[in-house]
Amino acid sequence: MAEHLMNTYQPLAISFEHGEGAYLFDKDGNRYLDALCGIAVCGLGHAHPAVSEAICNQARRLLHTSNLYQIGLQEELAGELCRVAEMDRVFFSNSGAEANEAALKMARLYGHRKGIDTPQVIVMEGSFHGRTMATLTATGNRKIQAGFEPLVPGFLRSPYDDLDAIRTIAQNSPNSVAVLVEPITGEGGIRIPDENYLVELRALCDEHGWLMILDEIQTGMGRTGRWFAHQHAGIKPDVMTLAKGLGNGVPIGACLARGAAADIFKPGNHGSTFGGNPLSASAALAVLHTLEQDGLVERAGQLGRHLLELFKQRLGGLEGVVAIRGKGLMLGIELDRACGELVQRALQRKLLINVTADKVVRLLPPLILSDEQAGQIVSTVSELIETFLGEG
Ligand SMILES: *Cc1c(COP(=O)(O)O)cnc(C)c1O
Repeated sequence: MAEHLMNTYQPLAISFEHGEGAYLFDKDGNRYLDALCGIAVCGLGHAHPAVSEAICNQARRLLHTSNLYQIGLQEELAGELCRVAEMDRVFFSNSGAEANEAALKMARLYGHRKGIDTPQVIVMEGSFHGRTMATLTATGNRKIQAGFEPLVPGFLRSPYDDLDAIRTIAQNSPNSVAVLVEPITGEGGIRIPDENYLVELRALCDEHGWLMILDEIQTGMGRTGRWFAHQHAGIKPDVMTLAKGLGNGVPIGACLARGAAADIFKPGNHGSTFGGNPLSASAALAVLHTLEQDGLVERAGQLGRHLLELFKQRLGGLEGVVAIRGKGLMLGIELDRACGELVQRALQRKLLINVTADKVVRLLPPLILSDEQAGQIVSTVSELIETFLGEG
């Protein structure tokens, strides 16, 4: 009975009634292993007791006051995020797109304060940054933009993982003020750039006085085996956006900044009615503390390496498998053909997976996954791919 819902999604013919850890249950009690966790949102799995307890307790005390009053939990969360991210200040939003909007507004203010009237932000082909007007413009996918013209001005596009292209832009575009990039593309097909990419990009940003803005909405909160994916490269961004895994399902986004970038916004420049309210802040604090106390960030790294190895052993030589990529619990298996129907086939096997960029099987399992569940994902996904490719 979805006739009163706007026609924006075409959901699979299934709904879930409850969840526990890495499992979801439908109304008939059928159990599904969740290798997607709400698109990298429920990193602690479903109904994690620490998160449930935190939000139940907070709901009984106070949900919302607005940012017209101090919010202790929001201040505490900002402090904890700055500690693990080595950043200085945080603005809280309710979603990823809004976190990126904050970052883009910061880039423009930064440009204007340098005397640049038409500041340009460099963005990448194959990227995804959200569905608001500015973030869909930043997104490097025509399907997401088509029909929504006129798009927002002030963006320059470069191929991903191509430093020479960025250097060319630097030479030709004196109004460029920032680079917005995902450390690993999520929706774009789990593309992992060259090892030196972020290091060199950081150097280019320093050389040209650009803000380095990292969209870690999908890669952050331990997903790749470090708190944030850029930490693998040993660099620090000026601005970083988070959302997805931050609240384990309670909507919350964040835009973090460091150094001079942390002082760009002044009172009146930006705001959000809900952003960082006591409820969402309590959820995110529980997530952060659980990830830390249970060593789940390291666990994601180890388990991810193991999964990648198993997939390479099993599918590596198979004709039709173009690439097997992964960092931590963010894995993509690229095939030589469109494979969206694998989602439905996996569902029949009681496994939840995703296909993105048409040809990439994407796995984003929860960080609390057991070795046994990991093994089950490998065997089921491998069987499905072997059968699918065998059909010619
Ligand atoms: C999901 C995602 C977004 C958008 O987040 P929403 O909460 O859906 O607005 C932006 N950037 C990346 C990299 C994402 O994966």
